[in-house]
Amino acid sequence: MSAEIPLSKPDITQAEIDAVVDVLRSGRLSIGPYQERFEKLVAARVGVDHAVACSSGTAGLHMALMGLGIGPGDEVVTTPFSFIASANPILMVGATPVFADICPKTMNADPVKVEAAITPRTRAILAVETFGNPAYMDHYAAIAARHELPLIEDCCEAMGCSLGRRACGSFGRVGVFGFYPNKQITTGEGGMIVTSDARLAEICRSLRSQGRPTPAPGQEVNWLQHERLGYNFRLDEMSAALGVTQMKRLDEFIQKRQRVAEMYFNRLGGLSEIVLPTLPPESVNSWFVFVVRLAAGYRREERDAIIAGLRRHEVGARDYFPCIHLQPFYRRMLEFKPGDFPIAETVSDRTLALPFYNDLTARDVDFVCRTLELMLKRGNLGRS
Ligand SMILES: *Cc1c(COP(=O)(O)O)cnc(C)c1O
Repeated sequence: MSAEIPLSKPDITQAEIDAVVDVLRSGRLSIGPYQERFEKLVAARVGVDHAVACSSGTAGLHMALMGLGIGPGDEVVTTPFSFIASANPILMVGATPVFADICPKTMNADPVKVEAAITPRTRAILAVETFGNPAYMDHYAAIAARHELPLIEDCCEAMGCSLGRRACGSFGRVGVFGFYPNKQITTGEGGMIVTSDARLAEICRSLRSQGRPTPAPGQEVNWLQHERLGYNFRLDEMSAALGVTQMKRLDEFIQKRQRVAEMYFNRLGGLSEIVLPTLPPESVNSWFVFVVRLAAGYRREERDAIIAGLRRHEVGARDYFPCIHLQPFYRRMLEFKPGDFPIAETVSDRTLALPFYNDLTARDVDFVCRTLELMLKRGNLGRS
């Protein structure tokens, strides 16, 4: 029996280890030179003026919403088919998430439905590149401009992705990356706000560090002066050192991930039971995860049985993502029910994430795909 093939795995080399050790030896474990270097690297890569490192993607979204002045009574239009952390920050600031159903092909929010969901109370559109797919980012930006609303880009799954010549993170007034270990680059825990709005960046810097004023260039921060209710959402220097090293390797990561994606496309392309991801033309996906869908007609129970079968064969697989509006507390708080966003629900019933990481070998991809084929055959036998 082969060893387990995990769903994801960070790519940590001696360079990352050296960078973290360098921080530990320096004695400066927070608010230091690595944070600044990490911010500069991300801002340059995305093509924005400012980047604000923070403790997680969730914290970054929370601060972006607060920085835009969004709060109780306000609505924010977003997708129901995503990791829960794209919608939760809307609730955290006291606003109401308004979901727009998705397009079945790309699995991102349908731009027509996003525009239709806008009301006089809407204060922002929060768009997500689900599984790193940059589809419609230009459409969302146009809709936001037309309605004079800020576009918040939850690009937590899209580091290194782009559409046309624009990097993900640069489409909105503000974008937020996340660096949990299953993302394209990791800092352990961590996140990054990106924006070309200088005032918004300044507010986020203050919010991240107990509401302290942002010092003028060359000046010391007034450590015990607090201008607003702030948080401790800072990123420590060990994490920032990881981030610097990983950012420098981003192009290597994208290449490796595209090689793995290509292996899956080649291997699964001929299967009528499997729907492969669809990307818009002139886009780059650095592949947060590799999510395939069972063909129409498969039921959720069959998908779950296939995932369980893969796991029995030590293949990491998962049901990315259950719909946000059907999570227990969303049903309780906002009275959502099955059928509210039917496309997201039928897509969500049939998606499964397969093992995906930089150094996944052709042999392992073959084993994953053979096991998947075996499970599909068993599923069909069960049905006939
Ligand atoms: C990972 C992720 C986040 C933020 O995650 P953290 O774990 O808080 O860094 C937010 N939105 C989406 C869509 C994500 O995938």
